Amino acid sequence: MAELRTRFAPSPTGPLHLGHAFSALTAFDLAQSAGGTFLLRIEDIDAPRCRPEWEAAIRADLRWLGLTWPEPVMRQSDRLAAYGAALDRLAARGLLYPCRCTRGDLRAALSAPQEGVPPAGPDGPVYPGTCRHRTMAGAGPQDAIRLDMARAAQITGPLHWTEGCGPLAGPRTASPRDLAAEVGDVILARRDIGTSYHLAVTVDDAAQGITLVVRGEDLAPATAIHVLLQRLLGLPTPAYHHHRLIRDAAGKRLAKRDDARALSLFRAEGASPDDIRRKIGL
Ligand code: GLU
Repeated sequence: MAELRTRFAPSPTGPLHLGHAFSALTAFDLAQSAGGTFLLRIEDIDAPRCRPEWEAAIRADLRWLGLTWPEPVMRQSDRLAAYGAALDRLAARGLLYPCRCTRGDLRAALSAPQEGVPPAGPDGPVYPGTCRHRTMAGAGPQDAIRLDMARAAQITGPLHWTEGCGPLAGPRTASPRDLAAEVGDVILARRDIGTSYHLAVTVDDAAQGITLVVRGEDLAPATAIHVLLQRLLGLPTPAYHHHRLIRDAAGKRLAKRDDARALSLFRAEGASPDDIRRKIGL
């Protein structure tokens, strides 16, 4: 059997909180128990929101928790050529088009009375297709790049992957046609950063040989998009484990801005890594 390879892929935009600790420890423990490898990847494509001091703090927190990983780590800001190559492959198959719509254009198109209530997918409202007639030959610096989901659905059959790990693992399937209706033409390259979460995560999980993607269940709706991109790019499909989210006392999901739950604060108050594990049920 192939070696189990998991990863933790934080964006250095704030402090790690208990939810991140849960994700990182789950991925690390699964790799350890199978004699596999746990990798760290820094997802810093959104440069204006990322800071080196957050990355240093993330590394310090993870080391304090007892995690180890091979160096050097992959960082997405070094990977723009790989994302560009993936876009070129998709463009060569006629699956991409440039889009110049602004947020304001989209709001106006989506609230036009004849459109009715816009359907909303995991990426927000489904794009109404204003720029779908355009071709990549006419793409310029003002354009984002979208995936023509209906065209992708024409050339791919049902998507399959495994969700869960151990005895709880089970098959999942999704139809690209449903993605066209429910998710629409996702952005694969934002005009400001030349890539997107969906494209970067798919290309990088494959480049790192990840066999089990461990992440919060808030990202589960993105998985069918990632499996579709793997099919279109000829990349292997890993297994996925979307874990429960750690919530605060009021049941609200923790976010990076909830500094009150930052791991560093528990550390400063004298908590041990085992205290953190107990707090999050590991
Ligand atoms: N970088 C993403 C985050 O910090 C995680 C992406 C993933 O695990 O697929 O939420």
